[in-house]
Amino acid sequence: MTIGIPKEIKNNENRVGLTPAGVAEMKKYNHVVYVQTNAGESSGFSDAEYEEAGATILVSIEETYAIAEMIIKVKEPIESEYNLIKKDQLLFTYFHFASSEPLTHAMMERGAVCLAYETVEKLDRSLPLLVPMSEVAGRMAIQQGAKYLEKPQKGKGILLGGVPGVPPAKVLVLGGGIVGTQAAKMAAGLGARVVIMDVSLQRLRHLSDIMPPNVITIMSNYYNIREAIAEADLIVGAVLIPGAKAPNLITRDMLKLMRPGTVVVDVAVDQGGCIETCKPTTHENPTYIIDDIVHYCVANMPGAVPYTSTLALTNATLPYALQLANKGWKKACLENDELKKGLNVANGKIVYKGVAEAWGLPF
Ligand code: NAD
Repeated sequence: MTIGIPKEIKNNENRVGLTPAGVAEMKKYNHVVYVQTNAGESSGFSDAEYEEAGATILVSIEETYAIAEMIIKVKEPIESEYNLIKKDQLLFTYFHFASSEPLTHAMMERGAVCLAYETVEKLDRSLPLLVPMSEVAGRMAIQQGAKYLEKPQKGKGILLGGVPGVPPAKVLVLGGGIVGTQAAKMAAGLGARVVIMDVSLQRLRHLSDIMPPNVITIMSNYYNIREAIAEADLIVGAVLIPGAKAPNLITRDMLKLMRPGTVVVDVAVDQGGCIETCKPTTHENPTYIIDDIVHYCVANMPGAVPYTSTLALTNATLPYALQLANKGWKKACLENDELKKGLNVANGKIVYKGVAEAWGLPF
């Protein structure tokens, strides 16, 4: 199969759909990979590395789309890319169709075959191509939180790990899923005293088994949250109710219970956030302050660490991309239910229930 790797053109997107290691894997199966010049530059991969791995470098995005049977990307195509997509071309990337009606119609009209990373689903209902980005965001939440706790950043001026003779900071993690687990591990590793709250007792049991002794688990409810936020120096919002807006676990009036300079990193901002005062921010201007509480609410946290994020994402996507390339999308989806769940658009029609429902389209 011929595979095209275009350079991402969405604002501030520095990741790339395939690494030189991925090219080498594709070559093993005799696939031909074309990479648009500088596609990997922002993730730390040069054209020379891609060439060494066996790819051919193309100068333009137009050529890359024109030659490829399968396009592997990171973000959904933006408007200027719509016309480059050919009938029956397979696109393997994040789409998030339910949040863009124009994108949905454009892909149907172009006759593209759209396999969306975010809906590839395992038997246990986990989403293997979303997990790596949650892992990155969870770990980053502590790195960012530690920075904004510094006094020049308007934080309390407390070092997460403390020093001998001085107690460490207290970190509260709301939600003990992928993001919460990684955040708690990072905070614990730095020596902080960590509390994880979740509504799932089963989850809390598991976390209690695997976490180090400086992490404790507490059931998430209004009463316990009120008590914990008064003590916390850094709060990480990491809850998810699939398909719904995140619940407001900390309301505006609860901010006054918190001490000035407390930092809130609301990773769940992409689902509306679990702190009522959360509104999306960007890497250029990541924080704002309300009632002396520092809010960090960047909606695409992994975008700041494209080297790590690209490797983490492609570690997860490559095995699926290989199946698509080796078998073609029809056979690959027939033989692998996880991939079949990723199919959102084919033959000009929506083939994913949630997307059809979102836009009132036939399914
Ligand atoms: P997950 O499903 O693995 O974990 C969510 C956890 O929240 C679950 O354990 C669930 O039991 C728990 N939960 C639900 N309601 C709760 C409540 N009331 N109190 C406490 N816990 C509750 O999800 P995840 O992969 O960890 O993702 C968390 C959020 O982070 C999602 O909204 C995701 O989209 C977001 N995210 C954001 C970024 C970013 O850049 N900002 C990056 C990756 C993920």
